[in-house]
This record gives sequence, C-alpha cells and structure tokens, in this order.
Amino acid sequence: MQANAKYIPLSKPERPAKSVIRVVDSACAVCGSFRCALVLKGKDRDFNNTTTDVFTLVRCAQCGLIYLNPRPSTGELGAIYPPTYPSYNHDFQRATTTFGLDKRLKQILSLLPPPEGERRTGVLHLGSGDGYVLKRLNDLAGNELETHALDVSLQAVVVAAAHGHMTYPGFAEESKLPYNDFDLILLGHLLQRVTDPRLLLLSVFECLRPGGIAWLECANIDAPSIQWLQEGAWGGYQIPRNWFLFNRKHIEQLAAEVRFEFAHFAYSRQGQYWRAKGSIATVKGTQLAKKVSRRLSCDFGTALEAAGQTSNMLIALKKPS
Ligand SMILES: [Zn+2]
Repeated sequence: MQANAKYIPLSKPERPAKSVIRVVDSACAVCGSFRCALVLKGKDRDFNNTTTDVFTLVRCAQCGLIYLNPRPSTGELGAIYPPTYPSYNHDFQRATTTFGLDKRLKQILSLLPPPEGERRTGVLHLGSGDGYVLKRLNDLAGNELETHALDVSLQAVVVAAAHGHMTYPGFAEESKLPYNDFDLILLGHLLQRVTDPRLLLLSVFECLRPGGIAWLECANIDAPSIQWLQEGAWGGYQIPRNWFLFNRKHIEQLAAEVRFEFAHFAYSRQGQYWRAKGSIATVKGTQLAKKVSRRLSCDFGTALEAAGQTSNMLIALKKPS
C-alpha cells in the first residue's frame, strides 16, 4: 500500500436519462378490468436522470383505481430508481428526522404485542432502501428488535447490511422469506409500486406470525388534493414509479381477499409534504415564489386534514391469531 496515496472519496456518477424504456401492458390490480379512461399523460417530475419517456395514467371504469398503463418493465427498475434516490441515500448521522417519522414509528411500535419470553420481536422492512427507517425503529425500541431488510436495489441492500440488518436483495414475492415468522412487516409506500399488489399482500400474510401486523402507507385518490394530479403537483403523481393509486375501499378489498383484518386506519399529514414537494418540483420561479408556494400548499394541506381526508393513508393490517 502506498503510504502517501491520496484518499479520493467516491462521488455519485452523473448519468443521462434513458429514452424508450421497456414497458408492459397493465390492467386494474383490484378488479382485473381492462376497461379504462385516460386521466393524464406525464413525465418524471422528480428526477432528470431516470427516463424522458411520457407515461399514461388511466382510471379503471369498473372500480375507479388509477394506474399507469403501460408501466415500466421490472427490468427497468434500475432506470426509474436512480442511484441518487433518497431511500438509498439517508444521512445516518442526522440527529433529527423529517415529516414526523419518529411519531409514526412510535405509533407502529405501540401496535405490537409484548415479546414472548426470550424471543426478540422480528421486523421485516420491504422496500427498505438503505435500512435507515428500520434502524430508526430499532433505536426507538431500545435496540430490542431483530431487523430484516429487503430491497430490489443491491446498492441499498449493501448499505442496509452494513448497518446490521439481515438483508434480502430482490422481490418479496420471489425471495425465500421464512413463513409465519415476523411480528411486523413494514411496506411504506410499496403497495402502489409493485406488479401485483394482491400477490405482495399474500406474501406478507404468509410471512407474518399469527397476530402479526403489516404496516402500509398509500396515496389516497379520494383526497380533495387529487385535483393537483393534472399539474403533477400531487404527491401520488410520481410517474413512472407509482403504478397503482388506491382509495380506502381498494385497500379494504385487497386485504379482505387475503384474509387480513383491519387493525388501524388513518389519514395522515403526509399530504402537506407531498403538495409542498410537488410545488418545488413544478414552480420554476424565484426562491421567493417557491417559498410562497410551499407555504400556501402547507396551509391548504392543513385545511384539508381538518376537513377529513388527506392524500396519505396509514393502514395496519393484522393476521388473525
Ligand atoms: Zn378496477
């Protein structure tokens, strides 16, 4: 080894956006219907290093589900989730968290039954990214959890493994996960981003212990803020990564078909963040214009919350004991 060799930090490589990525036809993931009506055509508004392609969102004529048709092939996940994707690049040294993460994680922990004897509570995070959320959850639980992380990004899984999680690269539906094993499975905003949400829920059901909890967050298309979808300023937009957009009834139907019980349901303030995020992405003006836009959207988000529904659903599903 050269004693005087200069340390050169790794930097994230710049990469161009891809054109004409592979796509596959899609149908409604809830009722299976192919009958649909155009909602909008749009591009990725969050990243400039994914794809330049234009995608089409449609609404199911039978049950109202909104979905991307056609949607990217799973072989293009590396294109539509760039190396700079936030879930792969958390700052683990950061002392504080954003958007009420700790509050939500404490709420999730409160839903769990007390551990039995010497056995540690097993938690699996599907779509874990670099494992930051899982680590934060374990910190809040006094490091008493046995943590498992699964993600399709090898880059993210390597970081998650380095932070002490048991890791699984790949898709939950195809991975050899243990049956009847986990007390808690976190899905975050994953259900809206997989090829077959029903199959994913079935895999989750099989991996949970009886009495175990699956925690989901999903965009809510019944929120009044859906009016911003057309301009791309609604959090659930996220073309081309969001493939299915649900309301409460859709989730209830899928959960019932898999034999889950509803343990908890709430609308959350995440909608504010999404609207603010959308504003930042769409307002091409001065810093002041962006600030004003963000402020207004947060105020409007608060008003919507007071009125009932926001654009984010928090759901806990229980596997019957
Ligand atoms: Zn449908």
